[in-house]
Amino acid sequence: MSGKIKFAFLLTGGCAGCEMALVDMGERLVDALEHLEVVFWAPTVADVKYKDLEAMPDQSIDLAFVDGMVRLEEHEHMLKVLRQKSKILVAFGICAALGGIPGMANIHPTEEVLEQAYKKTFSTDNPEGIFPQPSYVLEGKYQLTLPAFLDQVKPVNAVVEVDYYVGGCPPHQDFVAKAVETIVAGNLPPKGSWLGTGKAVCDSCARNPALKGRERKRVEEIKRTFEGAPQEGECLLEQGYLCLGPFTEGFCGASCPKVGIPCRGCGGPLPGVKDYGAQVMSSLGALLTDEAVDQLLKKYPNLVKLFYRYAFPGSFLGKAEQK
Ligand code: SF4
Ligand code: SF4
Ligand code: SF4
Repeated sequence: MSGKIKFAFLLTGGCAGCEMALVDMGERLVDALEHLEVVFWAPTVADVKYKDLEAMPDQSIDLAFVDGMVRLEEHEHMLKVLRQKSKILVAFGICAALGGIPGMANIHPTEEVLEQAYKKTFSTDNPEGIFPQPSYVLEGKYQLTLPAFLDQVKPVNAVVEVDYYVGGCPPHQDFVAKAVETIVAGNLPPKGSWLGTGKAVCDSCARNPALKGRERKRVEEIKRTFEGAPQEGECLLEQGYLCLGPFTEGFCGASCPKVGIPCRGCGGPLPGVKDYGAQVMSSLGALLTDEAVDQLLKKYPNLVKLFYRYAFPGSFLGKAEQK
């Protein structure tokens, strides 16, 4: 790309952690900003309004990042506007790419989700049991409105076409720096690609049995992380901790296994995998003994939440649930 790249960033239904990953780039962000002209960054960073985006000419934004899933009518509307204004749209972070952790809400009826959020949490003080309403008239004269809540969490590509995907919750800052540099240099892969290393978390993990010149042993028992500390330097999966490193894009440099925490799959799928959770289930099955499978079923009451922790709305199963 020649000249400064007109850049936009929209947070939809996310926690803004993905934006923190950009900030975590530190000086590399300063270098990147020399090539970027930020024309819109809402609602977190710039003092811009949605109508400012709506007023921009179509295709006037070179590169737009979206972080967060889609849960409100407002998100749907803003995504459609952003798509119309942007040449390249990147689903940035696993919420935008596949629905992320909030996507697990799709396993529950909407009423149950609202009951939990507005009535049942320990910190809720809502004696009258009031739920948010899309519109309300205050004191008989002030019409207040809120964006309507959708029945399901959706990934960004359920609403608009996505050009590139970046996994991670949030994406690792080293990788974000590389992705931004790649985009700035114009070295883009075919549309629809995930921007990643194409290698699994295991490939950068110091616990990988391959580094000791041997195959991974079959898993004979399943342990949850509260059942004891894992042995240093040994593969977590071999020890029975359900590490999803073999099935997950590894641009994070094995951040979690490095500190004794099993990979939970936030990096997203490896190239060519169409359904992350289905791939995990089929591949993991071959690594477990029959006893380990029995323990898995006893110790994890909801395997969908285990295998599709970050990926349910973007999966075949999750899409079948969406209206
Ligand atoms: S992917 Fe993770 S860090 Fe990013 S918005 Fe979603 S929950 Fe937050
Ligand atoms: S600890 Fe996890 S990431 Fe590391 S080698 Fe074992 S399975 Fe792979
Ligand atoms: S190890 Fe797995 S869960 Fe942890 S940051 Fe990397 S991809 Fe995400």
